[in-house]
Amino acid sequence: LLEFEKVNKYFGETHVLKDVDLNVEEGEVCVIIGPSGSGKSTLLRCANRLEEIQGGEIRLDGQSISDPDADINRLRQRIGMVFQSFNLFPHKTALENVTLAPTKVKGKDASSAKQEAKTLLDRVGLSAQSSSYPNQLSGGQQQRVAIARALAMNPRVMLFDEVTSALDPELVGEVLDVMHSLAEEGMTMLVVTHEMGFAREVGDRIVLMADGRVVEDSPPEVFFENPKTDRGKQFLSKLL
Ligand code: ATP
Ligand code: MG
Repeated sequence: LLEFEKVNKYFGETHVLKDVDLNVEEGEVCVIIGPSGSGKSTLLRCANRLEEIQGGEIRLDGQSISDPDADINRLRQRIGMVFQSFNLFPHKTALENVTLAPTKVKGKDASSAKQEAKTLLDRVGLSAQSSSYPNQLSGGQQQRVAIARALAMNPRVMLFDEVTSALDPELVGEVLDVMHSLAEEGMTMLVVTHEMGFAREVGDRIVLMADGRVVEDSPPEVFFENPKTDRGKQFLSKLL
């Protein structure tokens, strides 16, 4: 569904993604792990065209994302992204944060957008907070609003970049639970995380990146029990 083929990315002279091949299949939860600076965020940002690539191709549903002529706005509507920082609109309520893009970008009428937003807020456990402003919500609640907001565009795939890293430990679980249920509902997800419990339990595949390359791509039971590569073994030994 979301395919990376020989993707190469440079920041100036720095070669940050090196021949990355990855195919996230429909309904799959693909978890990316790896040391700091290995290119995980950059890979996600390239998938959303927040960064341009210098070689290779990225496709969604067989359509090129990386082609300069691609209709970026249309493509972005089909790719939901949630970041470490919540990035909610501070002067809008939770409900308004969720309805904004569907009404402004998709031209959905206000009442049906509102109805759908309520359903989404309910789905992330926030039906009681729909008229709260971001500063009245906990970090975990804000992050769940951010997930609802991304879902409001009815994306084909959801990208998550360390969405629990900025949260107090006691708030991490509620966000991971929402992601877990999304996965169970069949959402295609590409998830960068340090939460190994989540990776193991929810991931269909574990992709280990190091120094801009995919160095191992294994099912979780293989990766966590008996990794195929030395890099995998090395990474695991540092976790324990
Ligand atoms: P972390 O686990 O710390 O989030 P990461 O795996 O997400 O790391 P990236 O943020 O993708 O790593 O960065 C990969 C490399 O690209 C790093 O060497 C980083 O310094 C470099 N880099 C990232 N963004 C830029 C930028 N805008 N300009 C120049 N170099 C960048
Ligand atoms: Mg990162």
